[in-house]
Amino acid sequence: MYNAWDMRKANIRQIIASLVAEYGDRKRCLDRSPVSVLVRTILSQNTSDRNSDRAFESLLASFSSWDEVANAGIDDIANVIRIGGLGEVKARYIKRALEDMRQRRGGFDLEFLKELPLGAARDWLRELPGVGMKTASCVLLFSLGMPAFPVDTHVFRVAKRLGLLDTESSVEKAHHRLESLMPPEDAYRFHVLLIEHGRKICRAQHPRCHECMLCKLCPTCGELRDRG
Ligand code: SF4
Repeated sequence: MYNAWDMRKANIRQIIASLVAEYGDRKRCLDRSPVSVLVRTILSQNTSDRNSDRAFESLLASFSSWDEVANAGIDDIANVIRIGGLGEVKARYIKRALEDMRQRRGGFDLEFLKELPLGAARDWLRELPGVGMKTASCVLLFSLGMPAFPVDTHVFRVAKRLGLLDTESSVEKAHHRLESLMPPEDAYRFHVLLIEHGRKICRAQHPRCHECMLCKLCPTCGELRDRG
């Protein structure tokens, strides 16, 4: 006899298969260092992908090493990342996170995190200034290949509509819930495809339920269909 938990796990497998059939598979490419992903994710807060990419490129072009960034003044960092918005706030977080990392590890190599259980690796990262649940999960998933599941605004909205999260679930709880529901090997493809689906079909304001391939699996499909 299936309980609600088993049903959600079965449902998530079908959702992943439908998303892959619609958009194509997404394979993880671990081509960035953990510290790069960490800095990039801090830069991506409250701005567009384009502007955060430009801020990151500007940071790389202006400093020759992470040591140099850690040693720089907050104003100097803020000046080169200003295009990404919130320059001073992000500069402070980046500098303090790098300083903290260097003090705790003697450098910026975070590969040791792969040897820790997922929760312990995320806790280590979350002790760095400016690093929350989502940023830590991005580092673990995108750079270290661990089955963490970052929850951004698209993921949170779509997962709730799909009934994978309780309506009162917090973003923090959503990370743990989704990680425990999905097969670990699907973390990357599911994260990327859920964001794509949230941008194209399951939009915040006008979800296009009438053309959504997940309608049969989605408990809110009928409810939202007429708003599309
Ligand atoms: S059916 Fe509607 S609410 Fe459900 S996932 Fe698709 S677009 Fe979103």
